[in-house]
This record gives sequence, C-alpha cells and structure tokens, in this order.
Amino acid sequence: MKTETDRDRGRVLVAGAGGFIGHHLVKFLKSKGLWVRGVDIKKPEYEPSPADEFLVQDLRVPENCQRSVRGVREVYQLGADMGGIGYITRNFASLCRNNVLVNVNMLEASRLEGVARYLYTSSACVYPSFLQHVESVKGLREEDAVPADPEKGYGWEKLFAEQLTSYYGEDYGLGVHIVRLHNIYGPLGTYQGGREKAPAAICRKVAEAEDGSSIEVWGDGEQTRSFCYVGDCVEGLSRIMESEERQPFNLGTEELVTVNELVDLVCGIAGKHLQKQYDASMPQGVRGRNSDNSRLRKVLNWEPRTRLEDGLKLTYPWIWSRLNERGVAKPPTPMVAVVGHPIPR
Ligand code: NAD
Repeated sequence: MKTETDRDRGRVLVAGAGGFIGHHLVKFLKSKGLWVRGVDIKKPEYEPSPADEFLVQDLRVPENCQRSVRGVREVYQLGADMGGIGYITRNFASLCRNNVLVNVNMLEASRLEGVARYLYTSSACVYPSFLQHVESVKGLREEDAVPADPEKGYGWEKLFAEQLTSYYGEDYGLGVHIVRLHNIYGPLGTYQGGREKAPAAICRKVAEAEDGSSIEVWGDGEQTRSFCYVGDCVEGLSRIMESEERQPFNLGTEELVTVNELVDLVCGIAGKHLQKQYDASMPQGVRGRNSDNSRLRKVLNWEPRTRLEDGLKLTYPWIWSRLNERGVAKPPTPMVAVVGHPIPR
C-alpha cells in the first residue's frame, strides 16, 4: 500500500533499469506505489519492466542524461559497464572510460535539472587490497576505504565516482547517498556469457553437471566472500535513499563463506554430488572480503537478513529452469524453495 512518505517522494528515476539490480529495484519501488522511470542502454533481458516509462538511452551522452532525469525528484544511479571478476580484469580502459562518462554526466544532469536526492551504487571493490589478504578477513568498515588501494580499473573508478558524488553534495547541495554493494545475487541475473558473478556461475555449472561428475572452480576455492540477496539489496537502497545520512554505507551481509562452501551449498540444493576441479590460472580477486554492517545497523536499525542458503534456494531453480528451456540442465529438477530463516546473530 502507498504510504504518506511514498507519496511525498514524487517521481523516481532508476538508471541501469535494464540490469539485474535495477530491474529488481523498479519492481520494488512500483510495489510501493511510486511513479518510476527506468533508463538503460537495453531493456531487461528476462521479463518486461513494470516501469511507468522506460527510456533506451546511452548515458555516456550528456543530453540523454538530462532527458532522463528531467522532472524526477530522486535518482538511483545503477548504470555501469560491469561484470564478474573475469570481465572486470580484462577491460580496464573501456570499463573506466564508460563508467566515468556515465557518472560525470548523470551528476551534472541531476544538478542542472534540480534533482533532490541522488543515490550512487558503488562497490566493495573500493576497499584496499592490503586489508583483504587473508581468508579470515575482518569486516570492512566504511572508513577503511582511504588510504586507497582499490581493485584495479573498476574499483578506482568507483572510488573516484564516490568522491565526485560527495563533491556535488558539498558544492551544490545535491542530496547524495553512496552505497557500497557486496556481491549481490538472485534470480533474473546474468548467469552466462562472461559477465556473471560467482553465485550465478556456480549455479549454472552445477545445473549443467551430471550427478557424480565434476565442475571447475576458480582458484583453490578457499577465497572468502559474503553474498547478499537482491531482495534485501533493493530494500536497503530504498531505505538509504530515504535517510539523511551522507556518509557511504556498506550494503551486504556478514555471513562469510569460502567459495568451496558456496559450491557445497548449491550442490546440496541441487541434490548433486560433484567433485571440484581447481583452476589456479583463473582470476580470484582478493583473498577474503566481508562487510561490516555497523553503520547500517546504527543509522537504519536494519540490515540484510536473508541467509545465503535461502537466497540460493530461490536462485538455483531459476537458473536451472532457464538452462532447462535450452535442454542443457541435468536432473534432478530442483525443489520449489521454502525460505525465510533470518541469519542468526
Ligand atoms: P548490470 O550489469 O546487470 O546492470 C548495469 C546496467 O547498466 C546494465 O543493464 C547496462 O546495460 C547499464 N549500462 C551500462 N552502460 C550504460 C550506458 N552507457 N547507458 C545506459 N545504461 C548503461 O549490473 P548490476 O549487478 O545490476 O549492478 C548495478 C550497479 O551496482 C552497478 O553500478 C554495479 O557496479 C553496482 N554493483 C553491483 C554489484 C553486484 O554484486 N551485482 C556489486 C557491487 C556494485
């Protein structure tokens, strides 16, 4: 139901609405009764967008940004050239050029068109690699980002775009929010083609494998990460947009797992016994990375609560059924998910 606060929010733009998180965000904001415009260089891949208006525009072009933000009060800026670790470690120059252009032009257009609130989706890739050398890593706090040594290419651009976003807040009074996402996964996300991230890639490999066979795992599988379900992510983005906090937020979970544990969870959900074949030549990113959600808890009195196993129970069947349509998924057919257990504290 539409609340008084939602009515006050006016028109909303989601940039990157043809992508994974952007599409889920449009659905979430529509479910709250908001008027939503989506913009992206492409439409969502797997289902139509419920946006009130959807513009297909290249946001590297200033005029397209200005047309997109015109008449809206809030801008969620999720548009980015991005992908999994394989993609971002192969395309440094083009990825940075594209993302700098999108972020510079979206901020300037928002200033010129008098947008009230602007939320920028940054990444855990901004954190210094020297804090992420061990598997049993301490959760990264927002203030750990500087002194800087972020992920080459993608992480450096994100850190610069964060700074630029905050300067627009300081110099022009734009109501800015900066959110560092930590490994978001869920249904309707890319699962093949090179841009997919670890949870989707592992679900695909497990779905395509015969029970009793093996799958390839990048590195030795002992690298650690935390993974955040997309439903929690979009709720968090909306809550942060409504807050008055100007400092960056982590948005992720603190449920740290190794990639081997992630594979085992997916195999359990799939009902398959698979061997792991390690490929040390493939990129793994940092050795360990976890979110510290103290600021989220303190400021919003909220944090993502979907357990990894529950989120994967929603993700694996979706990927399996997509592959099954092409005849490449192997039995058994996954069970319908039963979810809802919060992460124990
Ligand atoms: P995604 O690739 O599915 O979505 C990004 C969208 O931006 C795509 O639909 C793409 O077409 C669009 N885009 C790229 N260049 C564009 C351009 N020039 N003009 C218009 N649209 C353009 O990625 P996602 O997972 O939905 O990520 C959304 C945001 O969150 C991105 O900024 C990403 O860097 C950030 N992020 C995501 C994760 C994650 O785990 N998925 C983690 C950290 C940060």
